[in-house]
Amino acid sequence: MLIREAEIEGQAPFDVRLHEGRVHQIARSLAPEAGERVLPARGGALLPGLHDHHIHLMALAARRTSLPCGPPEVRNSAALARQLARAQPDPLNGWIRGVGYHDSVAGPLDRWKLDAWVPKRPLRIQHRSGALWILNSAGLAALGIHTADCELPPGAQRDARGLPDGRLLRCDDWLRAQQTDPRPPDLRPVGQQLAGFGVTGVTDATPHNGAEELSLLSRASHEGLLPQRLCVMGRSDLPCPSAPRVERGALKLWISEYELPDLQDLLREIEGAHDADRPVAIHCVTRSELVLAASALETAGGHPRDRIEHAAITPPDLMEQLARIPVTVVTQPNFLWERGDRYAREVDPADLPWLYRCRGFEEAGVSLAGGTDAPFGNPDPWRAMQAAVERCSESGLCLGGEERLRPEEALALFTRPLADPGAAPRRVQPGAPADLCLLDRSWARARDTLEAGCVAATFCDGKLVWSTR
Ligand SMILES: [Zn+2]
Repeated sequence: MLIREAEIEGQAPFDVRLHEGRVHQIARSLAPEAGERVLPARGGALLPGLHDHHIHLMALAARRTSLPCGPPEVRNSAALARQLARAQPDPLNGWIRGVGYHDSVAGPLDRWKLDAWVPKRPLRIQHRSGALWILNSAGLAALGIHTADCELPPGAQRDARGLPDGRLLRCDDWLRAQQTDPRPPDLRPVGQQLAGFGVTGVTDATPHNGAEELSLLSRASHEGLLPQRLCVMGRSDLPCPSAPRVERGALKLWISEYELPDLQDLLREIEGAHDADRPVAIHCVTRSELVLAASALETAGGHPRDRIEHAAITPPDLMEQLARIPVTVVTQPNFLWERGDRYAREVDPADLPWLYRCRGFEEAGVSLAGGTDAPFGNPDPWRAMQAAVERCSESGLCLGGEERLRPEEALALFTRPLADPGAAPRRVQPGAPADLCLLDRSWARARDTLEAGCVAATFCDGKLVWSTR
C-alpha cells in the first residue's frame, strides 16, 4: 500500500509505503511498485491511529440492539412509556433490554413502576452508571427472585414489605450466570464504527473480563471483526492472550464510595498484581474513591503502568499526591459535553473546578490519556478531543476553562501506546506499526473543528479497514 502526498507532523507532501503491518518507507516521492495499491492523500494529515484507552466493547455491541431509555433519546416518563410500548422483545428469550436510564427521566425506578409500563414481558433496564439494573415483575419471575421468600443475590434490594423491588445493584456477574443475554453480541458493527473514527486500538476496561470474554474478543480480532489492536483489562485470573494483536492489560479494580473496600484488602490486590508484573487500573469517580486509591497506590509502591480510571474529581491536594506516584490518569473529557449540564446542577460547587481536569494534570506532571468509556459515553473520540479543548456542555455551559487543552494536546490523549498510555504519543515514522488515521485535510484545518468527519481512511496492521475514497 502506498499513501501519496500526505502531510506528516505539519510537513508535506510525503509518500508513505506500508508493508507487512509496518510503516516501511517515508520519502518525498515513492514510485508505486507493480500491483501496489495507491491511495491519494491529497495533502491530508496522516496521524497515528487513535487509541481509545477506556471502552467496553461487549456492552457497546449489546447497546446497538438495546432500547435507549435515557437522554438524549428519552427525557421524560411519557417518552419512556412510548419507547417501551414500541419495544421488540428479543426473539430468542422474549426479554426487553433497555439501557442508559437516568433518574431525570422518571425518578428512581423499581419493579412496580416498570410493571405499569410493561406488565407481561420480562424487562430489564440498565442505569446509565452501568452499576444498576432494574427488572419488572415478569423479569424477576423469569429469574426466580420475585417473591418475599426468594433468596436474592447480594446487591438485590427489597422494599419496605420485604418484597424484591427489582433493583439489582452490581449484580452483573449473577445476571450473566442466569444467561439473560442469549448470545454474544455482534462485534463487527463496533469494529466498523470505531474504524470510521480513525480508531486503531482500544483498551477494554470491563472489570469482569475473564477467559470467556478474552476468547470472544480474541476470536473477533482473529476474524477481522475487530480490526483494532486490543488491550484487555479484567479480573486477576484473566489469562494471557495468544492472539497476535491482543494483549492483557491491567487488573481492573472497581471501588465505590457506597462500600469502600478495606485499605488492607485493596493493598493485597494491588500487591498481588504487581508481584505478577501486572499493573492495576482503579476506577475512581468521587473524591473519597480517589483518596483511597491514591493512598493504596502510594503505600503499595507503584508499577510504572498503574492507572486511575476517570479521576472525575481531583482537588489540588490529591493532584499533589498523584504527582508523587508513578500513575497515569485515563480521563473522559466527553462527559463534560454529554453530562456537563447535570454536573453543574448536581456536583458539589466546591468540587466543580476539579471536575474532569486536563491542564491541571499536565501542569502537575501526571501522565494523562483519554478514553470515551463507551457505551456509557459517546464512542466518538473526536467529540472527546473537542470537549477537552472547549470544555463546554451540550447547552454551551463552560466547565473549568483553565483546564482547556490545545488541539495537539487533546489529540495526544488518544495517540499514546495502548499498553503504556503514560508514554509519549506515537509518531508516524519508518518501523512504526501501520496503525494509521488519514484525514481529508491538513492538521492546521482539522484542529479548528476536531470532527470525526475529517477522517478519510483508517489503516490497522497495514490494511485499509475504512475509507471514504
Ligand atoms: Zn468504564
